[in-house]
Amino acid sequence: MFLPITEEITIDNLIRSNRRSVSLEIRGKGELIVRAPLRLAHSSILDIVRKKAEWIKEKQQQMKARKLPSDNEKYFLGQKLNVITIPGEKASVSFDENNLFITMPQHRTVQALLSRWYKAKTLEIVLPRTVHFAKEFGLGFTKVSISTASRRWGSCNKKGHITFSFRLIMLPSDIVDYIIIHELAHIVELNHSSRFWATVHKMMPEYEQHEKWLKHNGYKFSL
Ligand SMILES: [Zn+2]
Repeated sequence: MFLPITEEITIDNLIRSNRRSVSLEIRGKGELIVRAPLRLAHSSILDIVRKKAEWIKEKQQQMKARKLPSDNEKYFLGQKLNVITIPGEKASVSFDENNLFITMPQHRTVQALLSRWYKAKTLEIVLPRTVHFAKEFGLGFTKVSISTASRRWGSCNKKGHITFSFRLIMLPSDIVDYIIIHELAHIVELNHSSRFWATVHKMMPEYEQHEKWLKHNGYKFSL
């Protein structure tokens, strides 16, 4: 979908759904995603977007200016590591303070090996942390799984099944803890209402600084 609104602003994707308000999101290289209620008049949507034109332009400029880390730099618990690939018969991944060593057979890709490694590491580190916080706050989750598909850091459904992104373990450990606490708080409140944020605050009083940090820095942590 391609809907030019002003000379500078174009809606790249308009998603209508059963929701009450219009939300704007700037993604990736500056694409504008608009979410709107099913029956809201198109002209009303355009009005809202036009009113937010300054904000959109500013955000888009920020997105264009930011630098994505190069392919040979990856993160582990917030630490930037140089990727060093070594040809070998058996695939393996290991690391020291500065480097991530990937031994790879010819037919494999760095992407595939790292995605599997991050997934395993995330589960290994995040599961005991989740158990720890669940005990501390008396919350019962039913299951933790790790996904590779999600753009989100985590999610929690009404059955208490928490899913974390395999990218989680790229983040600094205080941010990892915040995301675990955020998802555990969804066991009490399944939405992002003020009651939800009050619950998070009780569990982690400094959560706001982590949330802010994530908004500004989250994009750096990808495969
Ligand atoms: Zn949430």
